[in-house]
Amino acid sequence: MDTSLNSKEFTALTPKIVLGIAAHPDDLDFIAGGTMAKFAAAGAQVYYLILTDGSKGTSDPNLSSEELVTIRQKEQRSAVAAVGGADVEFLGYPDGMLEITMDLKRDIVKAIRTVKPDVVITMDPSMLYSAAAGTINHPDHRAAGQAALDAVFPLARDHLSFPELFAAGLQPHITPTVLLANFDDRNFFMDISEHMDAKMAALAAHASQFDDMDLVQERLKQMAAFTGAKTGSQYAESFIRIDIN
Ligand SMILES: [Zn+2]
Repeated sequence: MDTSLNSKEFTALTPKIVLGIAAHPDDLDFIAGGTMAKFAAAGAQVYYLILTDGSKGTSDPNLSSEELVTIRQKEQRSAVAAVGGADVEFLGYPDGMLEITMDLKRDIVKAIRTVKPDVVITMDPSMLYSAAAGTINHPDHRAAGQAALDAVFPLARDHLSFPELFAAGLQPHITPTVLLANFDDRNFFMDISEHMDAKMAALAAHASQFDDMDLVQERLKQMAAFTGAKTGSQYAESFIRIDIN
């Protein structure tokens, strides 16, 4: 289902605090690097929460998991800087094995209650695969999106959920808006034409992940141009936007 025709019903989105929640270093830069840069340029504090340690993302037999974790955290910090982000936290769950557990949800709730975002950006957990894009969505992405949504609603809202967090001084928080990345479905478009360079710089920071960075960037530019053409902008990113009543 393509719900793009509904996009004009939304009010302008001008968050003061944004929290991106994703499984791996580089996920948020792919799905929302331009949007993050746009929000940051407009004065928002932009935070990234990366759930796994990224320890499986290499085909180099000479690279240990420990070395890779260090490299990928450094790359993600550079990418956050490239979009003008404020900070990034790594939860360090094992890459490729992310499960939707109460421990994971508690860790995400802790971040939400600490940062107090107006907008949370994550991946749509209902996206199992995309026939159009020729991809199966990584199980870590699905787990991350599901745990993030559960944390946003209702767990971060209710002080009796994880009372140990409340006892530690973390007040309940209601996140008004969620943006979900889904390759096939969208109802909200962000014009990122002026922030495409920042998105490209964020992607370039993840040098360990791509043998041919030029090709990756070219494909992403094509995708952003394709998405932009739907709403008359040069480059765009698209999401399912949920304004929580
Ligand atoms: Zn990923």
